[in-house]
Amino acid sequence: MIILGIESSCDETAAAVVKDKKEVLSSIIASQIDTHKEFGGVVPEIASRIHVENISWVVARAIEESGVDWKDIDAVAITQGPGLIGCLHVGVTAAKTVAELFEKPLIPVNHLAGHIYANEMVTDMKFPLLALLVSGGNSELVYMKDAYSFEVLGETQDDAIGEAYDKVARVLNLGYPGGPKIDKLARQGQAIYALPKPKTQGKYDFSFSGLKSGVLQFVKRMERRNEEWIMEDLAASFQETALNEIFDKVRLALNDHPEIVHFVVGGGVSANSRLREMVSSLAEEYPNVEFTVPPMRCCTDNAAMIAVAGEFAAEQGRKADGWLSADASLEMM
Ligand code: ATP
Ligand code: MG
Ligand code: FE
Repeated sequence: MIILGIESSCDETAAAVVKDKKEVLSSIIASQIDTHKEFGGVVPEIASRIHVENISWVVARAIEESGVDWKDIDAVAITQGPGLIGCLHVGVTAAKTVAELFEKPLIPVNHLAGHIYANEMVTDMKFPLLALLVSGGNSELVYMKDAYSFEVLGETQDDAIGEAYDKVARVLNLGYPGGPKIDKLARQGQAIYALPKPKTQGKYDFSFSGLKSGVLQFVKRMERRNEEWIMEDLAASFQETALNEIFDKVRLALNDHPEIVHFVVGGGVSANSRLREMVSSLAEEYPNVEFTVPPMRCCTDNAAMIAVAGEFAAEQGRKADGWLSADASLEMM
């Protein structure tokens, strides 16, 4: 199948054409990051307006660069949610319009399913599978018994891990987005400062807001006492605590589900260099499990992953009609 994917859940307006789940014929991404940088984070109202400005040319260019004609497109896959509601509406409206105009089936896709299916672009996903989703808006452990079936084993009780990175970066005056900056600083430091270890209710759940406050309190305490502290070491201490929280739960889930044959990672935080190292050591502990971390271009928001997930969703008979509406807190099902 040749699928046109459209994505506008946050601050990237994206469209892509993908053939048979693997072959990316085109992938256009218009990022708004430079605009939002000035505000220290994504401003939802500004984001939706920029989507409106960009969506038409982004879709047109994706078709043009793919080298295929509208008549060759088999279906239109669209991110229905979760995400910022005003942003989602722009993509959904565009997708409904082209699907109606060119008489194509419309396939609703969950953004997080898209992040998981980004892995299919670089490997064949095998089941039962465990997916670790770590992004700016979500942190989840998802069990997939089969293709396109999602069971959320655990999720964050408060902040997403990417959000924690961004907030800690703000406390340290590093600018937005904070993830890559903390990653870089942490590589030059040692995790020598004790920060509060997260406490959670559910066995596989995560929590990051206490850790984030812990960093803030640490800085205030040091300033109050006029004590010296090292930024690189604080970044490393934060990162180590946050990632240990994640990998402790991943190990629990893998131990409790010995039938799992594949572990994949999705979402923007999978760009993190320490996280990638930790996945490599995990792979040594579980030789019977295949481990995949997609390359950076697949990890951050893009529409190719939506097109890929869309083909699997279509195989499951998922289809929408002209009444499809965006859903800011769409659950994974
Ligand atoms: P969601 O997918 O949940 O809707 P999103 O699409 O905004 O959220 P992504 O684009 O997948 O999130 O990821 C962005 C997040 O990834 C930001 O919080 C950013 O700080 C974080 N990030 C990017 N690179 C790194 C890195 N090297 N280390 C840690 N975090 C990173
Ligand atoms: Mg983004
Ligand atoms: Fe995302």
